[in-house]
Parts: sequence; structure tokens; C-alpha cells
Amino acid sequence: MRGLMMDQPLLISGIIDHAARYHGDTEVVSVGIDGHRDRTDYAGVRKRSLKLGSALLKRGMKKSDRIATVAWNNFRHLELYYGVSGSGLVCHTVNPRLFPEQLVYIMGHAEDRIVFFDKTFLSLVEALQNQLPNVEAWIMMEDHDEELAKEHSWLEFYEDFIATGDDDFNWPDDIDEWDASSLCYTSGTTGNPKGVLYAHRSTLLHAMMSATPDVMGFSARDSMVPVVPMFHVNAWGSPYSAVLAGSRLVLPGPFLDGESLVTLFNEEKVTISAGVPTIWAGLIQYLETSGNKLPHLERTVIGGSACPPSMIDKFRDNYDVDVLHAWGMTEMSPLGTVNHLKNKHLDLDADKQKEIRLSQGRPPYGMELGVFDDEGNQLPNDGETQGNLHCRGGWVLSDYYLADPDTTIDDGWFPTGDVATLDEDGFMQIRDRSKDIIKSGGEWISSVDLENLAMAHPCVADAAVIAARHEKWDERPLLVVVRKENDETGAGDILSFYSGKVAKWWIPDAVEFVDEIPRNATGKVRKNVLREQFGDVLMET
Ligand code: ADP
Repeated sequence: MRGLMMDQPLLISGIIDHAARYHGDTEVVSVGIDGHRDRTDYAGVRKRSLKLGSALLKRGMKKSDRIATVAWNNFRHLELYYGVSGSGLVCHTVNPRLFPEQLVYIMGHAEDRIVFFDKTFLSLVEALQNQLPNVEAWIMMEDHDEELAKEHSWLEFYEDFIATGDDDFNWPDDIDEWDASSLCYTSGTTGNPKGVLYAHRSTLLHAMMSATPDVMGFSARDSMVPVVPMFHVNAWGSPYSAVLAGSRLVLPGPFLDGESLVTLFNEEKVTISAGVPTIWAGLIQYLETSGNKLPHLERTVIGGSACPPSMIDKFRDNYDVDVLHAWGMTEMSPLGTVNHLKNKHLDLDADKQKEIRLSQGRPPYGMELGVFDDEGNQLPNDGETQGNLHCRGGWVLSDYYLADPDTTIDDGWFPTGDVATLDEDGFMQIRDRSKDIIKSGGEWISSVDLENLAMAHPCVADAAVIAARHEKWDERPLLVVVRKENDETGAGDILSFYSGKVAKWWIPDAVEFVDEIPRNATGKVRKNVLREQFGDVLMET
């Protein structure tokens, strides 16, 4: 017997419809590229998203056509999220921090028909334009600018474009919840980037899960700033999940430095934010030098790479901000785990609680994790046995977009490429990327643990640990450090900081000082670059 309930497809347009209907006057604040703040609300976002959808269809876009965005977090980008997906097209968010050759590859592979971009990226787009002959329109997300129009005959403007849409347009009714809604490419540290094609249904499941208390915990009382860019796995889904909950949304535009963010958080009374550790390191540095506080911010989600424990402590102890350490991947929409205590932990003393809060957290309903050995045998969830981390769930990809056959996922689990431990409550701790782990004399050493400790040293501004080749042990850890400004601390001082904190044989063999740690377009350390540079230094001595 089938249940007798209505059939309501899980569609992205349904999120903005709900927000406009019941949170219509809830504000959306948006910082422009010149720093001024635009203010609209969910009724306004829906109205213009619809008009945009109408304009796109009138221009000849057909179901599932890809529409690219190269843009900051701002209100027009939010309209594109809803207007493009809502009208049955695929919103392809492109990361402008990638190299131009990668952008040409990605946009060619996706066969984007229209590209919307922020004025900041005009010269980038000019460089791409003649290499992407199949793009039919390049639309700058601005008002009409006669001077620019004269200089660039190919250029169109968002406000002109949206004006061509009909006011009485409604979302097309032939959209299925399994239809493709948006597309992101992985950053591709090795090989070409790969496309992850999200569906309306997976996006809605991820958004509903994200809004629950033990994940991001969004409510209609929150004011949310996604610091994580909307071109980085859809700002971790927050432009869907926060809107679904009716949270007030504050979009920071291009201003992601410590001072700009603290000013925005305090002036707009922001309660929750989300971003990668490097952004928060800059913000804490600004707070420490300026003496400013964060009176309104209650919590922030930190993920994308391991959040150093010293950062969790500083936020909690000095600024009364709760850090929610999270882990995920583009292939997982992206959320896999978030760290929240359970009821049984509430009576533990502060130190024990702190220890639990350091891991990447546990999966919410809808996500399953497992650790496996190299032969594919599942390993115990005992908090100690580390193995290859695999996952499955309703917002995990089943295959890459137009993939080579060798990338197909065929045993029902997605192999994340991370090495981790899992305990019986599902608390997961990342030990390393499988390709970054250090194998010394046959034993594994976690570069993440060593990096976290180095980051707690008062003179260290940034740190990475790599596997350096070693005659006797095959590999030994090597610490690469950026010292704080004007600091002359020596290698011996930094290495002695490890004493008593890790097993003796884990302590790195040497320290290399650099001005900057190389990072990729999503803020992850490019360990292959460091390995190329320093991988042999222990062989020479
Ligand atoms: P995202 O764009 O969400 O960062 P990517 O697909 O670019 O996702 O990268 C995912 C990888 O980033 C993970 O497989 C993992 O290695 C790393 N990562 C993400 N979050 C964390 C975290 N909290 N701790 C350690 N590594 C993390």
C-alpha cells in the first residue's frame, strides 16, 4: 500500500518561494565591489530571480543548459542561484582564482552558453573570451555603463538583461527533482578538474540537513555571512540552507580581510558565519592587533582544511565564539561531518569536551562513513584504526560529469582520498590526504597533527608538514614555516615545542623557513609544490 501524501518535488525554486512567502521582508545585505552596501529582501530576490529566469529562456536557453557565474558573494549572484536553477538551467559557479588554462578547460568542458561575471573579473574574462567561442553572451553583473559598452562591443549588462524578462513569468512546471541544478568543478591539484553535477533533490536534502541544530543550525533569528565564496561548493550550500530557514543573509562581496569582516560582522550584528581556516587566521590577527571584539557573532563553521586547535581555543576563550569544525568535499555538496557534542558528553570536564571538539565531527542523518584498508576490507570504528575514508549518502555524487570511465564510482561508496579514524559515535578525525601521509619506517605519521601543533607556537604564522625522502626511514616529516613578521625564532626552538606533545619519532627532522606557503584556489596547501622544493633536503645532509 502506498502512503496517501502529496507529491511535492524538492526543487530549488521552492526555497526562494518559501522565503518570499513567509520571510519576504527579511533583509539581504550585499557588499558591492566599491564597498557600498545594497539592501534587498527575500521578496525582492524572488521577484528578480523570476525575471532573470524569464530573460534566460527568452534568450533561447533550453532545459539543463549551463550558465556560468564568475562572481563574489553578492545579491546578483544569489539571484542567479535561484533564477538559473529555478528555470531548469544549470548554475555553473566558476572559481576565478584558478589559472586561465584551467578556466578555459572547465568552461569548455561544461559548454557554458552564457557567462555572468563581476566587474572585478573584466580583464580575466577578456583573456578567456576568444578561447571560448561557444559562449553566446558575456554579461557583467552591473548597471548599464555606456563608457564600458563603447570600449567593449561584446559586453552586456545584467540590469539591461534582466529588464528583458517578463514580470508575470512563473517557474516552468516540467522540472523534476532529479534534474541537474548546478555544477562545480573540483580544484584538481592533480589532473584536470572534474565536474560535480548536483540535482535539485540532492541540494534540498543537503540544505534541510544543513539547517538542523547539529549541523549549521540556521534559524530565522540568525544573521549569516557566508565568507566561503559562492564559487566554492556553493558557499557550502548556505545560500540554500540559510534562506530555507529564513535567516538574514549578509553577503561580503570581495572584502574578506580581517578588518572588513570584523566591521561587517559588528555593524550588521552577524550571528553565524562559515569559512576556511586561512580567512579566520587573518581575522584573528586583526582582532589581536586592533583590540576589537565580536559582540554579536555566536558561532562559525570552519572547514575546507583542518582547523588548528589553537584557533578553536582563541575564538572560544578570547571572543566567546563557538567554532564548529566541519569536513566535506565538492563531491559531497559539501557537508560530511560537523563537530557538536552529544548529550552524554555534557557532564564531562572541560578538557575532555575540548578534546572531542578537535575532530572533524560526526555525520548527520543521510550521510554514512566507513574506513577501509587498501584491499577494501571495512575497518573497525574504534577511534584508533585509521584507513581510507569512504562515504555514501543522498548528497554524494554517483559519477563525475561527462567522466572518463576510470573515475566511475562502482561499489556504492565514494572514496574520499582522505585517511581517517572513526569512533563508535561517528566522530571522524582526518589524519591526512592519502597522498600526503608520511610513512616513516613503515609507520604512519599525521602531517595534520604536526601542522596543528606548529600553528600553536606563538612565533608561527603559517605551517605545513611534508614527507621528505630519507635514506634510512624512506620518509621523514619536514616542517615548513612562515614566521610572524620580524620574528627570528630558530628551527631548534620551534622543534623543541613538539617535545612531550607527540611521540619522539614524530618530531620533524628539520625546518625550512619560507615567506609564504603555496596554496591552491580553494586555500589548500599545495604540498606537491613543497615536496618538489624540499622533498630531497634530508637526502643531502
Ligand atoms: P572543499 O571545496 O569543500 O574544500 P574540496 O573538494 O576542494 O572541498 O576538498 C575536500 C578535501 O579538503 C577533503 O577531502 C579533505 O582532504 C580536505 N578537508 C576539508 N575539510 C577538512 C577539515 N575540516 N579537516 C581536514 N581536511 C579537510
